[in-house]
Amino acid sequence: MSATETAIASAEAHSAHNYHPLPVVVASAEGAWMTDVEGRRYLDLLAGYSALNFGHGNRRLLDAARAQLERVTLTSRAFHHDRFADFCTELAELCGMEMVLPMNTGAEAVETAVKTARKWGYRVKGVPDGMAKVIVASDNFHGRTTTIISFSTDPEARADYGPYTPGFEIVPYGDLTAMREAMTENTVAVLIEPIQGEAGVLVPPAGYLAGVRELTRERNVLFVADEIQSGLGRTGRTFALEHEGVVPDMYVLGKALGGGVVPVSAVVSSAEILGVFRPGEHGSTFGGNPLACAVALEVIAMLRTGEYQERAAELGDHLHRELGLLAGGGAVETVRGRGLWAGVDIAPALGTGREISERLMAERVLVKDTHGSTIRIAPPLVISKEDLDWGLDRLRTVLSA
Ligand SMILES: *Cc1c(COP(=O)(O)O)cnc(C)c1O
Repeated sequence: MSATETAIASAEAHSAHNYHPLPVVVASAEGAWMTDVEGRRYLDLLAGYSALNFGHGNRRLLDAARAQLERVTLTSRAFHHDRFADFCTELAELCGMEMVLPMNTGAEAVETAVKTARKWGYRVKGVPDGMAKVIVASDNFHGRTTTIISFSTDPEARADYGPYTPGFEIVPYGDLTAMREAMTENTVAVLIEPIQGEAGVLVPPAGYLAGVRELTRERNVLFVADEIQSGLGRTGRTFALEHEGVVPDMYVLGKALGGGVVPVSAVVSSAEILGVFRPGEHGSTFGGNPLACAVALEVIAMLRTGEYQERAAELGDHLHRELGLLAGGGAVETVRGRGLWAGVDIAPALGTGREISERLMAERVLVKDTHGSTIRIAPPLVISKEDLDWGLDRLRTVLSA
């Protein structure tokens, strides 16, 4: 057996089968490139679902991590540490907000947002105890906890995990009228992705996000934006909501915030909203740890320059222009997305998304399929134009075979 086959067989024997990875075993990576255990190089057009916006082995991020590793990595929140205040201040500032509540994974940050909204509902809005409702959208993806999958509409994500957490109202994504009709005086929040990533990079109709902002403001409901995948440069702006000039009440951030080095997530909001917490009412052993703060501070400094957003916008225009040309040719049905982020619906006759991904892998390009015949393209924002073009060439090869 090859080194690849041995590693895969062993992984299949000893790990739960909750994933179906492409049959590549990565040993090292740099920038937009990964090298497998047999020395083959692949172009990474997934970037860890946007957790790797700044590329693999980014020097600035590794240096920040290394320096912090030598000083102190974990204190727990039982004590203060000297990176915490800077992290919270800088992140709040990047978001144009006032307060930060740090967690680790995206799902934890979403849970934190739900808890914040409920507590705000009872303490500030005056919703009767136990009655708070959160409106979410169909085809959402917000994570994998029991509460979060309770409001998923994806049977795969949800089946056999009941009893489900109540308190959520699901309305069709992009439908403002349905959202308005679902709202009652007990609605505390609307939780949506500005662009739905897992659903296939679905961009809502123009005006929808601005409409949600207006509606939530009118009805004293919190607008909670899950920018875990869409935020931090991916779409050519710091936040995807900026494309409609919208500022939410709460950002939920994760993925790229940890620079592909450590898991870092956070809820970022106003002092009025995050001020609802008192000591002991919420927490996390690892949330806001020194190593996480040091890496995230470097991520924030990099985003402050604006160069990554600019790059994503420029390369994104190029990507969408090229994919648009493919869309005319029959092999590609639809292309959606914004910035360096695209959902590509392949003509089902050419194969499933998985089959296309496997053929691309044979051409040394790594992408991930999502539902049906859709693949998504989300390279690290540091990818060179030449490498991106090389990847698009491979895609054309696969689609014309
Ligand atoms: C990935 C993702 C999450 C969950 O993040 P985890 O770190 O995997 O828990 C939540 N929301 C969105 C939009 C995501 O893309």
